[in-house]
Formats: sequence, C-alpha cells, structure tokens
Amino acid sequence: MQIKRAAKYGFCSGVRVADIKVKRFAKAGGRGAILGQVVHNERVVDEMACLGVSTVKSMDEIEQGVIVFSAHGVPPSFHEQAKRRGLEVLDTTCRFVYDIHKESQAALASGAHLVFIGEPAHREVVGYTHDLDLASYHVVKTVDDAKAVDWARYPAIRIFYQTTLNAEEYENVVRLIEATNPNTSRADTICYATKENQDAARALATDPEVDLVLVIGGKHSANTRHLHDICARHRPSHLIQGAGDIDPAWFDGVECVGITAGASTPDYVIDEVDARLQELRPSAAAEGGSLPQ
Ligand code: SF4
Repeated sequence: MQIKRAAKYGFCSGVRVADIKVKRFAKAGGRGAILGQVVHNERVVDEMACLGVSTVKSMDEIEQGVIVFSAHGVPPSFHEQAKRRGLEVLDTTCRFVYDIHKESQAALASGAHLVFIGEPAHREVVGYTHDLDLASYHVVKTVDDAKAVDWARYPAIRIFYQTTLNAEEYENVVRLIEATNPNTSRADTICYATKENQDAARALATDPEVDLVLVIGGKHSANTRHLHDICARHRPSHLIQGAGDIDPAWFDGVECVGITAGASTPDYVIDEVDARLQELRPSAAAEGGSLPQ
C-alpha cells in the first residue's frame, strides 16, 4: 500500500506561532490558562495541560497569572476585562485575524454595514462581533439567511469571510447580497493557508492513484471538517484524530492511501498515522518476496 501526503497539510503559520509561543512560555516556567482551546485539537490541549497551561472556558475561572488568547482571537473588550482583573495576557491571535478586526472596524467607521460570512458561534466570528451593536452587522451562512434580510436599506455593505471558509462555496450567498445592494464590497479575508490545504486536499482526492483518504484533525476543528467534506466528494474518506482511530478493515483492496490534515493538527500526530499505516503494509515476506540479506 502506497502512502501519499497532500502537497500542503497541517499546521498553518498562525497555529504554529501560537503553539510555539505557549510552549516557550510554559517551558520558561510560566503558568496560566488558555481561554478556549489554543487550537482545535485535543492532543494539543492535553499537551499544554501537561506543561502546566490548562484550558478554561471563561476568564472568571482564573484569579491570577496569565491568560492566553488563542490564534482565533478574542473580542477587544476581553483585553480590557483581563486588565481589570489583573491578569497578564499572552496574545497568540493570528495576524490574519487581526487584519479582519482592523479592517472591519475601519469599514464600520466609514458607515458600512458589516456582513460576516461564517459560523455565528465560531470563536473567530465571536471575536469580531461580540462588542458590536447588534444593528451594525449580520452573520450569514446560507442563502436562506441572506434572503431573510433587507440589504437595500443599508447605504453601504462590507463583506468579510471567516478566515477558514472556502469562498467558492459561499459565492451564491455573497452574490445575493450584491444583487440587492449595489454598494456592496468584499474584503479579501480568506486565509491562504486554509485555501492551500483545501486545494491540496482536492488534488489528493482526485489523484487517480489514490483509493482512500485519511483526514487527520480534531473533531471540533471546522477546517478539518471542511477538508473531510472536500475529500469525501471524490473518494471514500475518514476523519480521524490520530493513529488510534485507524481501522485496518478500511484498507481491504486499497493500493494507495492519501493523507491530509487540518490546520490545527501537529506534525507528530501526522507522523504517528503514517507510521501506523506503514505497519499495516504487507511485509515483503508476507507478499512472498525475499528479505534483504
Ligand atoms: S488558518 Fe489562517 S487565519 Fe487561521 S490561524 Fe491559521 S494562518 Fe491564521
């Protein structure tokens, strides 16, 4: 059985930087808590906990020390809240997320109504919208969501995408808004890392040699699920969190297995999956071949 990795997969630059920052802090003896998972991957969360940096759901859960803000970012008011509570902040917000914070604030100041295409409950989107007046923005995900709003009433509209979305899949939503309000513009906020992983996953799943694809990532990771959706359109695909989820029965008759991984999947998890697949390969002896002398 041949193993092929996608041309691009795994940690994006934002997550890699966040991972390094937290580990450096912990290894230097720093102790604190991460607000929400530092990245959407349970293995990374456990690893951080072992290093002395636990994960909390709310800032109320910690009394003192350092609060870590994840790569997804937080609402600006959370920085003030941390200050008021006497907490130090280790900010690992990705620079691309900060770009959207800045650009959306500028659009708002210029009088535009903000539209975020994405998951309303995703932490990144909550970071953009939590502090805003409800009348100043919409979060839209489907064509039906978009149809329910009278867009013509806004003098100008500025559209932002949650960084991890595939813009092509939301084209109909954006076109509907543009058709009802000609003064609509789009910000180019799709993260290139996500797009590169998605394009590479599509290329892998449509590779004529590949029979089956394993998508490795956290079960709460939106971008991992998107990768799985893309691959499953073309080949039998399994979303796994690590080598322990592999079922040998999947590989009956499979000659080539493709591997890709979400932006929050650490390299060592991918290597473990690869090693497990190597173990599943029939040995030369079992195949009737001769072992090297
Ligand atoms: S996926 Fe993109 S926007 Fe999100 S953390 Fe990674 S580099 Fe940043």
